[in-house]
Parts: sequence; C-alpha cells; structure tokens
Amino acid sequence: MLKNITMNGIHMQEDSSLTILDVARKHGIDIPTLCFLKKDDCNFVHRPASCRVCIVEVKGRRNLSPACATYIEEGMEILTNSYKVRQERKNIVELLLSNHPNACLTCRKSGDCELQALSAKLGVSNNLEFAGPLSQENKEYRFGAILRNPSKCILCNRCTAFCEEIQGIGAISATQRGFATVISEGHKCVNCGQCIQVCPTGALMQYEDAPDIEKELTDPETFCIVQTAPAVRVSIGEGFGMEPGTDVTGKIITALRYMGFDRVFDTNFSADLTIMEEAHELVDRLQAGGKLPMITSCCPGWIKYLETHHPDMLDLPSSCKSPQEMFSSIARSWYAEKYGIDPKKMVVVSLMPCTAKKKEITREQNQVDGVQQTDYSMTVKEFIAMVKRYGLDIRNLPEGTFDSPLGESTGAADIFAQTGGVMEAAIRTAGVWLDGDAPWNINWESGYEDGIKEATVKVGGKELSICIASGLKNASKVIERIRSGEKQYHFIEIMACPGGCLNGGGQPVAKYGKYAETMLARRKGVQSIDRNKSARISCDSSAVQKLYEEFLVEPGSEIAHKLLHTSYSDESDII
Ligand code: SF4
Ligand code: SF4
Ligand code: SF4
Repeated sequence: MLKNITMNGIHMQEDSSLTILDVARKHGIDIPTLCFLKKDDCNFVHRPASCRVCIVEVKGRRNLSPACATYIEEGMEILTNSYKVRQERKNIVELLLSNHPNACLTCRKSGDCELQALSAKLGVSNNLEFAGPLSQENKEYRFGAILRNPSKCILCNRCTAFCEEIQGIGAISATQRGFATVISEGHKCVNCGQCIQVCPTGALMQYEDAPDIEKELTDPETFCIVQTAPAVRVSIGEGFGMEPGTDVTGKIITALRYMGFDRVFDTNFSADLTIMEEAHELVDRLQAGGKLPMITSCCPGWIKYLETHHPDMLDLPSSCKSPQEMFSSIARSWYAEKYGIDPKKMVVVSLMPCTAKKKEITREQNQVDGVQQTDYSMTVKEFIAMVKRYGLDIRNLPEGTFDSPLGESTGAADIFAQTGGVMEAAIRTAGVWLDGDAPWNINWESGYEDGIKEATVKVGGKELSICIASGLKNASKVIERIRSGEKQYHFIEIMACPGGCLNGGGQPVAKYGKYAETMLARRKGVQSIDRNKSARISCDSSAVQKLYEEFLVEPGSEIAHKLLHTSYSDESDII
C-alpha cells in the first residue's frame, strides 16, 4: 500500500513494505550502515539494527529511529542528515572506536574498511571522548584459511548470520557476554571465506601466503612457476579501478613475469584436463552401472562440507582432483621431466579466487609419493596487494602470453569460474565422445541466477537429469533430495560460494549495493572469453591431447589415477 512521506522536506509516495533505508537508497540519499547488509546476489538480508549508525529523525518521535528497521508510515516526516543525527552517529562511531585498536596504519583492511570509511565521513577526530582500555587484545588467531582479530570486531554478526543462513553451517558464533563478547570459531568451518567478504572491518581476514611467495621469488635456487585460475582474470582489474568483468589476462601474465616467476601457466590447462578425467568417469559410471549421481569435486569448500556434514555420501563425488591440484601434479612430473627441471627445486604457486584452496593444498590425499603438490595458494586480494607492493599498476602493463604448453586451454575451461560451468564443460566433452557433438544449450528450469537449478540433457541417447547448486545451504537441500529418494539425478555440480568462484572468498569485495551487478559483469566476462576461444570443448585442447599421447596414455589410466585422482574421508583434517 502506498504511503505519503517526506524525506528531508521532499514529498514521496512509497510502498509500506519499504523501510526508511530502502526509500532513502531508492532516491539516492545516503544513510550509513555497519551491521545492516543486503546482498542481492544471494538473497541475504541482515537487519539486526544493533549498530545504530543508520539512525534518523522522525518528527514526533522522542528517540532517533534506526532506518534499516523502521518501515514507512503515512505522514512520516523524516530527516536523514540533520545536525542531531550527524552528532549522534559520530558519538556511536566514537564509542565503537573506544574499544578498537585504531591500527589503520598496519591493518590489511585499511582502505577497504567500512568502519574506517565511516569515521572519516563523519569527521571523527583523534580526541576520542570515550577512549579506554580494549576489551580484547589486538592479536590475530588462525583457524584454517581464516584469521580473526577479536579486537577489531564490532559485533555486527554479519559473519555469523551469513555462515548460518547462506552456508547453512554456523561454524562461528558469538560467545561470552557483555564487554567480553567475542566471535569464536567453532568446528566444521569449510574455509569458504564468505564470512571475510561480509565483515565490515579487519576482524576477519584471510591467511596470507604472499609473504612466503615473495621470499621464494628472491631465491636463485628455486624454479618458481605460477598457475592462474579461470575466475581471477575478470576481477583483478577491480583492484585497480577497472570495471568488473574486464578481462586482464594478458596484464596478469606480465605482472607475474615482472615479479620474477620463471614460468607463467594457466589453471585453465588443467581445467580441460579435469574435464577429460571427469567426463570419462561420468561416462564410465553411466555405462557400467556405477554409483550415481556423480558430483563434481573441484570445489574444496564443498568437499570439506561433504566430508564433515554428510559423510554417508562420500561415494558420490568424482574422484578427480581439482584443476589446481591436477596442474601441480603434472608440473612436478611430466613438465619437470620433459624440460629437465629438478622437481625438488620447483615452487608451485597458484593464483586463486578462493580461500579454501589454501587448505586444499595441504590435504594428504592430494600428495603424490608423500609430496605436497602445490606449495602456496594466493587469492586475488593478495595478488592485487602484491602487484601494488611491486610498484606495478595492472592498467599500465603490456599484454603478455602464457608459457607453453601448460598455458593452453579451451573455452570450456573459462566457464569453470561460474556456477554451472564445470557441468556444462563436462557435458560438452561427454556429448562429443558419445554423440559426435556437444549439446550447446542446456535449458535450466529455474533461470541461471538461482541457487539450485535442474535440467534434462540428452547425451549418448540417454536423458540425463542434471542439477547445479551454489551456496552450501543449497547444496544441503540437494543432498537431502537425494537421500530421501525425492530426486534421481545423474550428475550434479556443487560450488560452495553463491554464484561459484566468481564470488569466491578471495575475490575483491564488490562495491556496496552492487553485488548482483558485479557478479553479472564478471559472469559476462568469462562467457565472452569462452565464446571467443577458437576451441571450446576440453577434448579439443591440443596441449591436453599431447599430454595423453606422451604421458598419461588415456583418461582413467593407471598413471592418470596416481597423479590426478584423490579420495575423501570423514577423518580429513577438519580445518
Ligand atoms: S569460512 Fe565459511 S564456513 Fe568458515 S566460518 Fe567463514 S563462512 Fe563459515
Ligand atoms: S567478525 Fe566482522 S562480521 Fe563478524 S561480528 Fe565481528 S565485525 Fe561483524
Ligand atoms: S566455489 Fe570456488 S571460490 Fe568458492 S570455495 Fe569453491 S572453489 Fe573456492
């Protein structure tokens, strides 16, 4: 129902289902928020009204009202930025800062911190009226790939709500009471990093591999090679003011060379290799009556979730390692031998959109002959900071090209970045093998943007029932459908992060309120790269074909199993 209101003296007619904050944003009026968060890319709305920085004056009300939780009413007269409002907001932020280390000079979140930006905007000075001793020590604690610093926490609970409501896990929670309240890690964290992405301060950060990588690059004895994941090339530009979705592949390559990497390769090469092994496994399970549905296995957040939350389903995922791990195993074996490099001197680094990859590299099941295959995994955020430390600016760098042969790939590898991409890539190759051509159009039943989608696709004369899900709460729903017998799928793709790796926990955080827009732009970016590749089906990769001819023999061979496949256990290291 429409209501007549005035906001800052301007008459408006708006629906009663809207809050004052909704109306203000609709009309381009800025009201600051800290605890409130609406992420339209995954339907997350967090409205605890606890920080109170969104307070506004409503005529006739004695107390200021939180705009995020106050719905408009007929005749409301609202002032969003009066002197009284500004002073009260400043007091609130000063109170928060009185229990904050205010260590912006050394905080890695500096420049990207919502609390820092807000205190600058409100003109908070260093004469903090309420300053006193901190309730928590300014110290970082590591759990898995995540670092938490309780002294920087403003108890907005965005992280706990996201982990619970979107990931369906609840791995972190507020413990203790009053001044001693702290966000603590519990168990069953899957390292997806989504809590970091919603944290407004530096209280949750990723564990950093970059300092060790930089040290390795100065060692003349090491042979440093790097692989770049499909999802990083359309988001790195954002760290340098470029539009989301801009393809900066060539500039990333140049930056990595300037940093001193001996070879710059592409994880896309091994994404194609993954499809060769995975499509082979799918065809085998379909033809030999193997266990169905087969579920993709390239997302370590998902795999960790399955191991810890649904251990009775460990016979469903493909045994394929992720592209990151396949790449490293091939680099340390075939590539090292072919080019006369001592694998012991090799340092293999990955550039990933993902925090969970930092833990994947340490999984015992990914070792070959007792040797960890990937040495370090850095995220997009780490890489952007590293580029800046090296005095470089992605915008100004010339275009480079990947080294051969582990830098060659098809368009099918590029779409690994988005939800549904691994499925589509596998179906393309299975279609070629069984029918002589790829089924190019998959008609997803509920539109490509939703968290769970189903389709039927004809491959090898058989109607395959397929499903994709992203976000772990959605994954859990799919698992329940299988467990209850409600659905009989043949093939499922699951990604831990809503929307897939384009929205990974190591990606740049989208500008406030531009989440869906940013995801869409990144998605269009990878889709365009796919469309413009001369080869778009993994089995057409000449580099991968050569690898089989020279070394792996055929998909599913003994050597392929040793190097490219893995196993799962409910006893894997929890975090
Ligand atoms: S990393 Fe993921 S699972 Fe772990 S606490 Fe954060 S959101 Fe939850
Ligand atoms: S850790 Fe970050 S997101 Fe979580 S409650 Fe503290 S400030 Fe909020
Ligand atoms: S969806 Fe991608 S970024 Fe997210 S945890 Fe999985 S592999 Fe990592």
